[in-house]
Amino acid sequence: MAPTDSVLSEYLRQQKPKKEEEGEEPSWKDRPLHGMYHRQIEEVADIQKSYQWLDKAGLKDSTEALIMAAQEQALSTRSIEVGVYHTRQDPRCRLCKDAPETIQHITAGCKMLAGRGYMERHNQVAGIVYRNICAEYGLEVPRLKWETPPRVVENDRAKILWDFQIQTDKMVVANQPDIVVVDKQKKTAVVIDVAVPNDSNIRKKEHEKLEKYQGLREELERMWRVKVTVVPVVIGALGAVTPKLDEWLQQIPGTTSEISVQKSAVLGTAKILRRTLKLPGLW
Ligand SMILES: [Zn+2]
Repeated sequence: MAPTDSVLSEYLRQQKPKKEEEGEEPSWKDRPLHGMYHRQIEEVADIQKSYQWLDKAGLKDSTEALIMAAQEQALSTRSIEVGVYHTRQDPRCRLCKDAPETIQHITAGCKMLAGRGYMERHNQVAGIVYRNICAEYGLEVPRLKWETPPRVVENDRAKILWDFQIQTDKMVVANQPDIVVVDKQKKTAVVIDVAVPNDSNIRKKEHEKLEKYQGLREELERMWRVKVTVVPVVIGALGAVTPKLDEWLQQIPGTTSEISVQKSAVLGTAKILRRTLKLPGLW
């Protein structure tokens, strides 16, 4: 009725914030705590892709909510209980007692979680890539999601190594990548290493992985007489990915989508958070 009623239209005019005021309204991204994640990944990640799992992964609402809460530091870690709620004195991690218990620490920095929680998450992500490679070459795909692949599988088209320590003549920095695929017809090999670090570290981690396997690449080219490519597959613990992830994935035989590895990483993190923070059933 506003267009014909002068009182109503005046009321609406006064209710509407003025344009310049709208601009001054601080966005959630500027908030010190809630906006921290977004600011951190803005510098290293493809922002649109880093949030695409919300649209496309088909996760349960509760899992989406949990990961979003983790991004905004809105979960009761000990560090938050000390600094924000003032309900606790000691901010140190309940598991390792070594570092302040922040979301970043729990999701990718705690040594007590390295052996089990992080390893499990890492192997789930690597397992997706592995299965797709097997399927591409007509090799038997491990049936169960939790099954650890055999160290070596082979047919006349390809040979795939899983977490296999490769003997080289010359000493190299690293000789046990997650996956190595040798394409016997094309005479190529791809060395793949997976990581799920803190989201702010994804770009650094990609570089690290590339560097780490250059020695092995040279040795393999010499010993096996194949062209070798090193491919890092890096997903942030809360889903962030670099603009290059898709390019990397395309260098791996078979078809592995960004969303499939992102989903797996985020699910792994949700499990770690639920277990460690002993979150109530709602989450
Ligand atoms: Zn810890």
